[in-house]
Amino acid sequence: MSEQGETGGGAAPVESNVPDDVDLDDVDPETADSSIEESAKTVPRGLPLRVQNLRKTFGGITAVDGVSFEVEEGSLTGLIGPNGAGKSTTFNCITGVHEPDSGTILFKGEEITGQRPHEIAQKGLVRTFQIARELEEMTVLENLMLAPQDQEGEKLTNAITPGLRDQVKRDEEAIREDVWEMLEFFEIDHLAEEYAGNLSGGQRKLLEMARALMTDPEMLLLDEPFAGVNPTLEEKLLERIHELTDRGYTFLLVEHDMDLIMQNCEHIIVMHQGDLLAEGTAEDIRNNEQVVEAYLGEDV
Ligand code: ADP
Ligand code: MG
Repeated sequence: MSEQGETGGGAAPVESNVPDDVDLDDVDPETADSSIEESAKTVPRGLPLRVQNLRKTFGGITAVDGVSFEVEEGSLTGLIGPNGAGKSTTFNCITGVHEPDSGTILFKGEEITGQRPHEIAQKGLVRTFQIARELEEMTVLENLMLAPQDQEGEKLTNAITPGLRDQVKRDEEAIREDVWEMLEFFEIDHLAEEYAGNLSGGQRKLLEMARALMTDPEMLLLDEPFAGVNPTLEEKLLERIHELTDRGYTFLLVEHDMDLIMQNCEHIIVMHQGDLLAEGTAEDIRNNEQVVEAYLGEDV
């Protein structure tokens, strides 16, 4: 998974286009316009993520060629497509890993295009990361204890500042409680003292998601979270995702496996060669000839 790097996307934060006096609660979703200028001002509640005309090239390669879609609040939305369709590039543009050539990304009505991953994460839009090498040498418990600070882009300097110690200690106790809850939720509490580096592929994925959740997100983006996961743990991970969706979290799941997305996602977006090919329910997608052709034409 070469797309896991956190480099790039180094542009200055973009100011929000939402005027202070716009009350998003008053916006009627029925009448809200979908044009870019309008959407920045009047994004309805219920569409936390809006991607507008997203375009990203690498040298001569157009990885994403003007893609627009929306993700509904509390939904489990799937983004599928054959290899090279541009899914990961889209994912990386949304999460701030890549800076798009053009286009707009709005999260809860605020433009986040070109912001850094930790800035975007602070706003509640969080992606999972592979467990980095230095975290492999820490226990599962330590990994989760560190996750909230990680996303704030802060070091543990507070812990060594006199006077702040008590505050930090209290916070740590609160975090520890959350961590144990998280460990139990993912049924990895028996692994708390295990080094992350010793986990199986599937257990790592559970830890990666637990780490992402420790940052208190509203929306989670997962790029091929089931790669290298055995069927039993895949089932467990899917159950957890459904449970979290029921609790109100929003998911965008990027996946190559069409069947998996068909069976689990209420809304599906299909990309092919940098374009948005189709969008709809599993039923819509199943009956879409272009989608079937795109997958048949795949040389894997
Ligand atoms: P997917 O995730 O759907 O398989 P990607 O977004 O990874 O597709 O890739 C889309 C296209 O962009 C492919 O042709 C790929 O080779 C190219 N691409 C992706 N990332 C890079 C990069 N960092 N540098 C150059 N080309 C890239
Ligand atoms: Mg990919």
